[in-house]
Amino acid sequence: MQALGKQTLAKNAQRFPTAVASRSSVRAMASKAHVCEPKWWTADDVAVVTGANKGLGFECARQLAGEAGFTTIVTARNGDQACLDFHQLDIADKKSIEAFKAWLQQKYGKLNVLVNNAAIAYKGSIFGPQEARITTDINYHGTADVTEALLPLMPTDGRSRVVTVASRAGLSSILKSQELKDRFMNAKGRADVDALVDEWLASVEKGDFSSKGWPGSMYGVSKLAVNAYHKALAKDLESKRIMVNTCCPGYCATDMSSHRGTSTAYDGARIFTWLATKPPQDFESGGFWVYDNTGVKWPM
Ligand code: NDP
Repeated sequence: MQALGKQTLAKNAQRFPTAVASRSSVRAMASKAHVCEPKWWTADDVAVVTGANKGLGFECARQLAGEAGFTTIVTARNGDQACLDFHQLDIADKKSIEAFKAWLQQKYGKLNVLVNNAAIAYKGSIFGPQEARITTDINYHGTADVTEALLPLMPTDGRSRVVTVASRAGLSSILKSQELKDRFMNAKGRADVDALVDEWLASVEKGDFSSKGWPGSMYGVSKLAVNAYHKALAKDLESKRIMVNTCCPGYCATDMSSHRGTSTAYDGARIFTWLATKPPQDFESGGFWVYDNTGVKWPM
């Protein structure tokens, strides 16, 4: 917030009211259960949220900026939002990722918290090879590309976290084949997960995915890949003291759920903020979390 000029703050008042709250009200709000204590970050620490123009990403950015007090950068694939600090970022476009990285490096020089929130889900019974590819390109490849591009900007002093939004729809129980389950659970890194995703896409193309033990959920497979990738990444980054976790916000009323969800976007985003602010002394990485006021680790 320190980095914001008066004009930006005035603009923020409309869309991010908590971001321009007084210092004392920010302090009072910081005691909310989803903002962890003790506070290890300062207003100079930088958080980035992808897909933050609406829904859970928007609420997460509000919480990280207004309630926790990070310098928070909102990213989205379209628009010039009247918000905290904005930069265009289409996670499925490598040029966009590189341009964002260069801007972030030049303007802030580092990144402490990356919230990988952006994703898509086709509505209703839409299913097909093209749609499966688009879903995995954005939800899995795009998320992994952003993470890999931005990791070099993350300090290795215990003050960096990757929080990636997955879903209970992407648990390994969606697979009917034990062999596929084992391969997802034991994936050693991006190459292993890429190979599984390629197999799934080929199977959808051929029409034999069900007999091979795959589910009929494009969104579910994309989030399963997200979970497997981050689990492996967490192991790789443990020695660098970078916490990497995935989570599920529950069924939330946003555009993705056609506003049928039973939780608000604000409540759903609390698990993102909780993981983003987890203190270095509570180091835990490679988990899949859902929110129940204290945070519960679910087995994948
Ligand atoms: P919304 O559809 O409201 O928001 C999704 C966001 O992702 C939008 O900002 C959208 O931008 C953005 N996005 C999509 N594709 C890209 C891209 N290529 N590059 C950058 N941004 C992109 O959904 P939610 O807020 O509900 O979803 C947020 C996260 O929570 C997702 O990861 C979702 O899978 C997950 N989730 C949601 C649940 C729910 O019940 N709502 C349940 C479980 C998980 P644009 O406006 O440009 O489309």
